[in-house]
Amino acid sequence: MNLLTAVLSRSRLLPFVPIIVALALSGCGGPEKRQPSGVRITPGTTRAPRPQPPPSYPAPRVVTPQQAPTFVQPRPQPLPQVPQPVPTVVPKPQPLPVPIQPAARPQWIPLQSWAAQMGFSAPTRVSQTSYQLRSAAGSFQLEVGKRAATWNGYKFHLGFAPASTNGVPFIHSLDADKTLAPLLQVNRPVARGRGVIVLDPGHGGIDVGTKSVLSNSFEKTYALDWAMRLKPLLEARGWKVVLTRTTDRTVELTERVLIAEQQQADLFISLHLNAAAAGAAGLETYCLTPAGMASTLTRNYADPTNIVLPGNSQDFQSLHLAMRVHRSLLQNIGMADRGVQRARFMAVLKTQQRPAILIEGGYLSDRNEAKLLASPDYRQKLALAVAKALE
Ligand SMILES: [Zn+2]
Repeated sequence: MNLLTAVLSRSRLLPFVPIIVALALSGCGGPEKRQPSGVRITPGTTRAPRPQPPPSYPAPRVVTPQQAPTFVQPRPQPLPQVPQPVPTVVPKPQPLPVPIQPAARPQWIPLQSWAAQMGFSAPTRVSQTSYQLRSAAGSFQLEVGKRAATWNGYKFHLGFAPASTNGVPFIHSLDADKTLAPLLQVNRPVARGRGVIVLDPGHGGIDVGTKSVLSNSFEKTYALDWAMRLKPLLEARGWKVVLTRTTDRTVELTERVLIAEQQQADLFISLHLNAAAAGAAGLETYCLTPAGMASTLTRNYADPTNIVLPGNSQDFQSLHLAMRVHRSLLQNIGMADRGVQRARFMAVLKTQQRPAILIEGGYLSDRNEAKLLASPDYRQKLALAVAKALE
């Protein structure tokens, strides 16, 4: 109890007592931290119990009607814009990931409507869950519930497994735009701007990559050899070719992207060889996952679907390039087809301002493929297959 309260309680100011008392106790300012005003009162002060009774008084509406909303509003607004994934976007000059705006609303399209719109015949049911679409350009085979699909027999992955409602198959609109549409263009040559390709032999120096199951040979050595063989083949096809390394040196991932930036390269192609504990074998070709979709490979990295990365500006052309190269490798070498895949974590893909792909040209952990890769003739075939895709 104090004198101020006693005086006020007799006057007409009775309804405002808690406010006046609170203001007197809290000093001034500090609007950001209203709640702690009770906390800040030190133990032993007779004023301590005062701030707690306010609920029984309607005073706040009368005294500070305009101020309250201005404190409250600013806080909720920033929240949606700060989703915790501010991922590892490496180079500085490029825009930060931006959360997707309303465009990302899921939208499903009847497969039949899309087929008609794109000049395909009506989908033919080829099994309990699979559908085939045919046109002059080729044929898709899609399966309800599965992301893996084929285009002219070559495997790729949808962002969303097709769904079925009452026996009617649907595809996701993002797949229509970001997956199926680029594949339809696969017979068109890759666009040349300045005619510059950056080839990126994976690993190097202290980063040896994977090791052959058969010998002490490493991925970094084979990748460099592959790139050195590919360079003259591309030059013979009119490209200017720059390698991110021409020796066994350590090259940071950011430097690899920077080289492409400095060269204002039209295309970026990273060359790697794979490894797995289990008996995997075959070819995988990667490009960046479009925003709104899940990746097919995450390697335990976060895979935030709600961000747009710099490389996403090239989604269409990157998948087009990926399928052209993938198809050429399968046609010319006949490896097992593990499909065109999508990953979001690969630094050499996600920060690019140009179509960019990463080829995993076989498994050094597979005895058969390790043996093939040890052969210079086979590596020459690998190089030639990539070059043919860029004619
Ligand atoms: Zn690698």
